[in-house]
Amino acid sequence: MTIKLYENDAYLKEFEATVVSCEECKNGYLITLDKTAFFPEGGGQQADCGFINDAKVIDVQEKSGIITHKVNKAFEIGETVLCKLDWDTRFARMQGHTGEHLVSGIIHSMFGYDNLGFHMSDKTMTLDPNGLLSAEDIKEIELRANKAVYENREITAYYPEASALDTLDYRSKLDLKEGVRLVSIDGYDLCACCAPHVHRTGEIGLIKIIDFIQYKGGMRLTMVCGINAFEDYSKLHDDSKEMMHLLSASRDKVLDFVTRDHETIGAQKAEINRLSAEIAKANLDIKLIGSTLCGFTKGASFDDMRNMVNERLNEAQIVAFFSESENDTFSYIISSAASDVRDLVKALNEAFCGKGGGRPNYAQGKITANKDSILKFFEN
Ligand SMILES: [Zn+2]
Repeated sequence: MTIKLYENDAYLKEFEATVVSCEECKNGYLITLDKTAFFPEGGGQQADCGFINDAKVIDVQEKSGIITHKVNKAFEIGETVLCKLDWDTRFARMQGHTGEHLVSGIIHSMFGYDNLGFHMSDKTMTLDPNGLLSAEDIKEIELRANKAVYENREITAYYPEASALDTLDYRSKLDLKEGVRLVSIDGYDLCACCAPHVHRTGEIGLIKIIDFIQYKGGMRLTMVCGINAFEDYSKLHDDSKEMMHLLSASRDKVLDFVTRDHETIGAQKAEINRLSAEIAKANLDIKLIGSTLCGFTKGASFDDMRNMVNERLNEAQIVAFFSESENDTFSYIISSAASDVRDLVKALNEAFCGKGGGRPNYAQGKITANKDSILKFFEN
């Protein structure tokens, strides 16, 4: 079994160890050491990265108590090596992981819910409490969690006696009877966990729940902690400054200005739509060919064309309107009050490499053609 140095000292950044085995594998080598501070992937947290001598640690996995490091260089068995963790990444994960314990513990004590899923990605984490929470509940949870950070509570990890386990009320995803490592956050949480955590809640830093959705009958919360929360805030602050500049708005007026502009743009879009419908109607060139009323215009939307077609359905057996959008591309609507237009639409699509369809007496689509060839099609 590999001695897990991170269990007793989560802050160990550098250590010496002896190489126990080294095997070639796909794209590298798998090595085991007598002891390690590299945390293997597990419990929703990624594997630590760093260096063993000058070999890059690409992955760390644990199987039956043996921890295997995937590296990009071979080592001699019995060799003493100097190992260095990528400490910034590891500490950010310790902040996040401990933040997750705190928030899950608070949710458990407030609502009795358990966290059924925990996943850590590069910057954010998700946790899945198995019950519903309102936006107000989440604000309250977040506030309590941040107050617990200011209280700077002690965090300890220990292996209790198997007999003592039955008497303890702790959160756990697995029903283990022995070898259970408990992580306690004074006054807030007791949870079975094998990962490294910070020593005091103050080190977690800011805790922010940045998103939440209903998920599998419960919730999925997305959260940032510590340095990742600081970076998230910095990004939002930079964006906000840029928006203040663009809108010539003070910091507290950005939302008011965006809301005002959003409403103005909505009204302008509606006016543009109304005017383009009017222009399309004014440009309409119509011609009755047999029992089909053909109409041609430019730049009309399907909605505009539908309105124009519906207004004229009683003027001919079939109404076929075309609107030119780009060179030689026409969108079309073909409709009839009484006839089935599907065969006609099929023939039109075949003649002009078109796409489209619809119901028996209504179809819309696009063709590549010019006005003369479309007129000739209907004449024939
Ligand atoms: Zn943990």
